[in-house]
Formats: sequence, C-alpha cells, structure tokens
Amino acid sequence: MKLPKIPETAYVLLSGGQDSFVCLVWALQNFATVATVGINYGQRHSRELDYAAKIGAHFEVLHTVYDIGNFMKAITDSTLLNQGDHSHSHPLAADLPASFVPNRNGLFLTIISNHAFRKGEQRINLVTGTCETDFSGYPDCRDNYIKAKAVELSLGLDRPVTIYTPLMWKNKAQVFEMAYNAGKLKELRELTLTCYNGEEQMNPWGRGCRQCPACKLREKGFAAFRQTYPHLAP
Ligand code: ZN
Repeated sequence: MKLPKIPETAYVLLSGGQDSFVCLVWALQNFATVATVGINYGQRHSRELDYAAKIGAHFEVLHTVYDIGNFMKAITDSTLLNQGDHSHSHPLAADLPASFVPNRNGLFLTIISNHAFRKGEQRINLVTGTCETDFSGYPDCRDNYIKAKAVELSLGLDRPVTIYTPLMWKNKAQVFEMAYNAGKLKELRELTLTCYNGEEQMNPWGRGCRQCPACKLREKGFAAFRQTYPHLAP
C-alpha cells in the first residue's frame, strides 16, 4: 500500500555522495515538497559540492549552499580538510579515523534547521544520511546522538523539529537496493561522488579512486547488492 505524502517540506542535507542522494530520493517519495542544502565545510575535494548541485538540478528541487569553510579550517583537524592519510587514526582521538570532523553532523543539522526556520517552517523536517551500520566510528552519526539533537533543536527553536535518518540501520548494499527499488540506480552511479580523493572516474559501483576508505566501502556494498540481484546488467 502506498501511503500519502506528508503535506510538509523536507530539508535534505545533500553532500553529493551516495547516501545523501538516496535520502533525497526517499524524501521525494515521502514529502509533498523537498528542498536541499549543501554545506561547504572546507573539504579538500569540494567537487562533491558540484555533484550536489547537479543532483538538485536533476530532481528540480531548490538547492541552497552555505559556506563555513574558513570557520571549519580554523577549528578542525581532519584529513577531510587538511593533508594526511585517511586510514590513520585521528591525532586527538586514537579510536577514530583521521577523517573525523568533530561535531560535523551536529553543526550541519543546526545550519539546516536555521535554514528551514528562515523559510518560515512551523514544523521542521530534516533528512540526513547518517548511519550506524558500515560506520566509520563517527559518534555524531549514532542514532542516540540524532535523537538528542532533535530534542535540542526543538527546544532551541521552540517548534517541533524531526530528524529523519532513513539509512540509519542500512548497510551499503541496502542503500544500493533502495536506489534500485526507486528506479534511480543509474542516477546514483552517475550523479554522485563519495570518494575522499574527489576522483571522478567511473566504476561499476559509481565514481571514485577505488583506493580510499569511502570507495572501498562503496565497492564492497555494490558487490553484496549484486549478489542479491545477479540478473542485473553489469
Ligand atoms: Zn576514493
């Protein structure tokens, strides 16, 4: 049974990567109106922001970009912003990867809630692709953090804020499956860039360098997805 769409606007954090692409597809299936927000946080490979804009244009949604790059570079040690090997440990948190950007999701959710508030929303619906499965250990991706953040934002803005995380319990194979079931697998492969090195070369599973942790995770997820759907053309 197909449920009616929620007659409100969903604001999707759109990074240009695979997970946020699938979140956008999910939001379009579930909400009457959808808008997207991209955030330039000073990432080394800002090419993904171009992909976010392309995805927004493809689905004809209003896409807004906020730039916090200078602020984040001043306050953050992370191989996503600075030089360094993504596979090492974070210099300030040995149990986390060097790519960890402290509070990145928390900041992004605050920014996107401000954006929705500015648009005059009385009920604020946010969608983010954070995920505990296949997870790099980032603490602000965990379900309990997201639940607490929704309470915090609701109190801070004095109106209901709901944070939807359709991928929270999905692995990468299931994320491919969501795109496939929505008829968007081709767009997922062509219009997204998840690679930490910003490499755009095309692979069966999508664009990327094949070497960085994000590419390896994506490639592995695609292989598992293909085992479930062996009839699909390569
Ligand atoms: Zn890569």
